[in-house]
Amino acid sequence: MKLILLGPPGAGKGTQAEVLTKKLGIETISTGVMLRAAMRDGTDLGKLAKEYIDQGKLVPDEVVVGIVKERLSQDDCKNGFILDGFPRTIPQAEALTNAGVEIDKVLSLEVDDEIIVERLTGRRECKACGTPYHIKNKPVPESGKCVCGGEIIQRADDNEETIRNRIKVYHEQTEPIKEYYASLGKVVSVDSAGTVEETNAAVISALGL
Ligand code: AMP
Repeated sequence: MKLILLGPPGAGKGTQAEVLTKKLGIETISTGVMLRAAMRDGTDLGKLAKEYIDQGKLVPDEVVVGIVKERLSQDDCKNGFILDGFPRTIPQAEALTNAGVEIDKVLSLEVDDEIIVERLTGRRECKACGTPYHIKNKPVPESGKCVCGGEIIQRADDNEETIRNRIKVYHEQTEPIKEYYASLGKVVSVDSAGTVEETNAAVISALGL
Protein backbone atom coordinates (compact mmCIF):
# COMPACT_ATOMS: atom_id res chain seq x y z
CA MET A 1 0.00 0.00 0.00
CA LYS A 2 1.34 3.41 -1.00
CA LEU A 3 -0.76 5.85 0.92
CA ILE A 4 -0.80 9.64 1.23
CA LEU A 5 -2.33 11.24 4.32
CA LEU A 6 -3.72 14.61 3.35
CA GLY A 7 -5.28 17.20 5.60
CA PRO A 8 -4.66 20.50 7.38
CA PRO A 9 -2.21 20.72 10.27
CA GLY A 10 -3.93 19.18 13.29
CA ALA A 11 -6.26 16.97 11.26
CA GLY A 12 -4.72 13.95 12.96
CA LYS A 13 -2.43 12.74 10.18
CA GLY A 14 0.39 11.81 12.58
CA THR A 15 -1.98 10.06 14.98
CA GLN A 16 -3.69 8.03 12.25
CA ALA A 17 -0.33 7.26 10.63
CA GLU A 18 0.84 5.78 13.93
CA VAL A 19 -2.09 3.31 13.91
CA LEU A 20 -1.89 2.53 10.18
CA THR A 21 1.88 1.92 10.30
CA LYS A 22 1.34 -0.83 12.90
CA LYS A 23 -1.70 -2.30 11.17
CA LEU A 24 -0.17 -2.37 7.69
CA GLY A 25 3.43 -3.11 8.72
CA ILE A 26 4.82 -0.30 6.55
CA GLU A 27 6.85 2.79 7.40
CA THR A 28 5.47 6.29 7.81
CA ILE A 29 7.53 8.95 6.09
CA SER A 30 6.79 12.31 7.71
CA THR A 31 8.54 15.32 6.20
CA GLY A 32 7.72 17.37 9.32
CA VAL A 33 9.42 14.77 11.56
CA MET A 34 12.46 14.60 9.23
CA LEU A 35 12.80 18.39 9.06
CA ARG A 36 12.49 18.77 12.84
CA ALA A 37 15.14 16.04 13.32
CA ALA A 38 17.46 18.01 11.01
CA MET A 39 16.73 21.18 13.04
CA ARG A 40 17.62 19.38 16.29
CA ASP A 41 20.83 18.02 14.75
CA GLY A 42 21.74 21.53 13.55
CA THR A 43 22.48 20.35 9.98
CA ASP A 44 22.46 22.74 7.00
CA LEU A 45 19.05 21.34 6.05
CA GLY A 46 17.81 21.95 9.60
CA LYS A 47 19.06 25.55 9.63
CA LEU A 48 17.37 26.27 6.31
CA ALA A 49 14.12 24.53 7.33
CA LYS A 50 13.92 26.46 10.62
CA GLU A 51 13.58 29.80 8.80
CA TYR A 52 10.39 28.59 7.12
CA ILE A 53 8.93 26.33 9.82
CA ASP A 54 9.09 28.98 12.57
CA GLN A 55 6.95 31.28 10.41
CA GLY A 56 4.47 28.58 9.39
CA LYS A 57 5.68 28.77 5.79
CA LEU A 58 6.46 25.83 3.52
CA VAL A 59 10.05 24.72 3.02
CA PRO A 60 10.96 25.07 -0.71
CA ASP A 61 9.71 22.24 -2.93
CA GLU A 62 13.13 21.19 -4.27
CA VAL A 63 14.47 20.72 -0.73
CA VAL A 64 11.56 18.58 0.46
CA VAL A 65 11.31 16.60 -2.78
CA GLY A 66 15.02 15.76 -2.47
CA ILE A 67 14.73 14.32 1.04
CA VAL A 68 11.56 12.35 0.23
CA LYS A 69 13.03 10.78 -2.93
CA GLU A 70 16.11 9.77 -0.98
CA ARG A 71 13.99 8.23 1.80
CA LEU A 72 11.67 6.36 -0.59
CA SER A 73 14.67 4.75 -2.32
CA GLN A 74 15.56 2.90 0.90
CA ASP A 75 14.81 -0.81 1.29
CA ASP A 76 12.14 -0.48 3.98
CA CYS A 77 9.90 1.42 1.53
CA LYS A 78 9.88 -1.36 -1.06
CA ASN A 79 6.62 -2.92 0.12
CA GLY A 80 4.80 0.36 0.58
CA PHE A 81 4.75 3.43 2.81
CA ILE A 82 2.56 6.09 4.32
CA LEU A 83 3.37 9.69 3.44
CA ASP A 84 2.44 12.15 6.19
CA GLY A 85 2.79 15.84 5.29
CA PHE A 86 4.00 15.24 1.74
CA PRO A 87 3.11 16.24 -0.92
CA ARG A 88 1.99 19.68 0.21
CA THR A 89 1.98 21.54 -3.13
CA ILE A 90 1.06 20.67 -6.72
CA PRO A 91 4.76 20.69 -7.80
CA GLN A 92 5.55 18.20 -4.99
CA ALA A 93 2.69 15.91 -6.15
CA GLU A 94 3.93 16.19 -9.73
CA ALA A 95 7.50 15.39 -8.64
CA LEU A 96 6.23 12.18 -7.04
CA THR A 97 4.36 11.20 -10.21
CA ASN A 98 7.37 12.08 -12.39
CA ALA A 99 9.61 9.93 -10.17
CA GLY A 100 7.39 6.97 -11.12
CA VAL A 101 5.84 6.59 -7.66
CA GLU A 102 2.35 5.06 -8.10
CA ILE A 103 0.16 6.12 -5.19
CA ASP A 104 -2.70 3.71 -4.35
CA LYS A 105 -4.83 5.98 -2.20
CA VAL A 106 -4.99 9.48 -0.78
CA LEU A 107 -6.75 9.62 2.56
CA SER A 108 -8.12 13.12 3.09
CA LEU A 109 -8.85 13.99 6.74
CA GLU A 110 -11.50 16.72 6.92
CA VAL A 111 -11.85 19.11 9.87
CA ASP A 112 -12.92 22.74 10.40
CA ASP A 113 -10.33 25.47 10.97
CA GLU A 114 -11.51 26.43 14.48
CA ILE A 115 -11.25 22.84 15.72
CA ILE A 116 -7.69 22.80 14.38
CA VAL A 117 -6.70 25.88 16.39
CA GLU A 118 -8.03 24.28 19.59
CA ARG A 119 -6.31 20.99 18.84
CA LEU A 120 -2.93 22.43 17.95
CA THR A 121 -2.62 24.76 20.91
CA GLY A 122 -3.04 21.65 23.16
CA ARG A 123 -0.73 19.44 21.16
CA ARG A 124 2.53 18.06 22.54
CA GLU A 125 5.04 15.61 21.09
CA CYS A 126 8.02 13.49 21.98
CA LYS A 127 11.25 15.26 21.20
CA ALA A 128 12.99 11.93 20.56
CA CYS A 129 10.54 9.83 18.50
CA GLY A 130 7.86 12.32 17.42
CA THR A 131 4.94 10.43 19.00
CA PRO A 132 2.02 12.88 19.27
CA TYR A 133 0.19 13.67 22.55
CA HIS A 134 -2.58 16.13 23.48
CA ILE A 135 -3.34 17.74 26.84
CA LYS A 136 -7.01 16.64 26.59
CA ASN A 137 -7.26 13.84 24.04
CA LYS A 138 -4.09 11.84 24.55
CA PRO A 139 -2.42 12.83 27.80
CA VAL A 140 1.27 12.32 28.39
CA PRO A 141 2.05 9.16 30.48
CA GLU A 142 2.13 9.71 34.28
CA SER A 143 5.93 9.57 34.20
CA GLY A 144 5.84 12.85 32.23
CA LYS A 145 7.96 11.12 29.57
CA CYS A 146 7.07 9.51 26.26
CA VAL A 147 6.59 5.70 26.10
CA CYS A 148 10.07 5.65 24.48
CA GLY A 149 11.50 7.58 27.46
CA GLY A 150 11.91 10.79 25.45
CA GLU A 151 11.15 14.32 26.63
CA ILE A 152 7.68 15.72 25.80
CA ILE A 153 7.67 19.20 24.27
CA GLN A 154 5.35 21.72 22.62
CA ARG A 155 6.36 22.49 19.04
CA ALA A 156 7.53 26.07 18.49
CA ASP A 157 5.15 26.36 15.51
CA ASP A 158 2.11 25.33 17.61
CA ASN A 159 1.36 28.90 18.76
CA GLU A 160 -1.86 30.58 17.58
CA GLU A 161 -0.33 33.09 15.15
CA THR A 162 1.78 30.46 13.38
CA ILE A 163 -1.11 27.98 13.45
CA ARG A 164 -3.40 30.47 11.63
CA ASN A 165 -0.68 31.04 9.04
CA ARG A 166 -0.23 27.29 8.53
CA ILE A 167 -4.00 26.89 8.01
CA LYS A 168 -3.95 29.69 5.42
CA VAL A 169 -1.00 28.06 3.63
CA TYR A 170 -2.89 24.75 3.68
CA HIS A 171 -5.95 26.23 1.96
CA GLU A 172 -3.89 28.12 -0.60
CA GLN A 173 -1.17 25.62 -1.48
CA THR A 174 -2.04 22.14 -0.23
CA GLU A 175 -5.82 21.81 -0.66
CA PRO A 176 -5.56 22.00 -4.50
CA ILE A 177 -3.72 18.67 -4.53
CA LYS A 178 -6.95 17.00 -3.39
CA GLU A 179 -8.37 17.88 -6.81
CA TYR A 180 -5.16 16.63 -8.48
CA TYR A 181 -5.57 13.16 -6.94
CA ALA A 182 -9.39 13.20 -7.19
CA SER A 183 -9.02 13.50 -10.96
CA LEU A 184 -6.98 10.27 -10.78
CA GLY A 185 -9.76 8.63 -8.70
CA LYS A 186 -7.51 8.14 -5.66
CA VAL A 187 -9.14 10.23 -2.93
CA VAL A 188 -11.00 8.77 0.05
CA SER A 189 -12.37 11.43 2.45
CA VAL A 190 -12.98 10.91 6.16
CA ASP A 191 -14.45 13.28 8.77
CA SER A 192 -11.79 13.78 11.44
CA ALA A 193 -13.60 16.25 13.68
CA GLY A 194 -14.43 13.55 16.26
CA THR A 195 -12.26 11.62 18.69
CA VAL A 196 -9.11 9.76 17.67
CA GLU A 197 -11.02 6.46 17.99
CA GLU A 198 -13.99 7.67 15.90
CA THR A 199 -11.68 8.93 13.18
CA ASN A 200 -9.64 5.76 13.26
CA ALA A 201 -12.76 3.58 12.85
CA ALA A 202 -13.82 5.73 9.87
CA VAL A 203 -10.30 5.51 8.38
CA ILE A 204 -10.13 1.71 8.70
CA SER A 205 -13.54 1.34 7.09
CA ALA A 206 -12.83 3.88 4.30
CA LEU A 207 -9.60 2.06 3.40
CA GLY A 208 -11.35 -1.34 3.57
CA LEU A 209 -8.81 -2.67 6.14
P1 AMP B 1 4.09 19.12 9.90
O1 AMP B 1 4.81 18.42 10.99
O2 AMP B 1 3.70 18.18 8.77
O3 AMP B 1 2.94 19.95 10.38
O4 AMP B 1 5.14 20.14 9.24
C1 AMP B 1 5.68 21.22 9.99
C2 AMP B 1 6.31 22.24 9.07
O5 AMP B 1 7.35 21.60 8.31
C3 AMP B 1 5.37 22.82 8.04
O6 AMP B 1 4.61 23.91 8.56
C4 AMP B 1 6.37 23.26 6.97
O7 AMP B 1 7.03 24.44 7.34
C5 AMP B 1 7.38 22.13 6.99
N1 AMP B 1 7.03 21.05 6.06
C6 AMP B 1 6.66 19.77 6.37
N2 AMP B 1 6.38 19.05 5.27
C7 AMP B 1 6.56 19.90 4.22
C8 AMP B 1 6.41 19.77 2.82
N3 AMP B 1 5.99 18.62 2.26
N4 AMP B 1 6.67 20.86 2.05
C9 AMP B 1 7.10 22.02 2.58
N5 AMP B 1 7.24 22.21 3.89
C10 AMP B 1 6.98 21.18 4.72
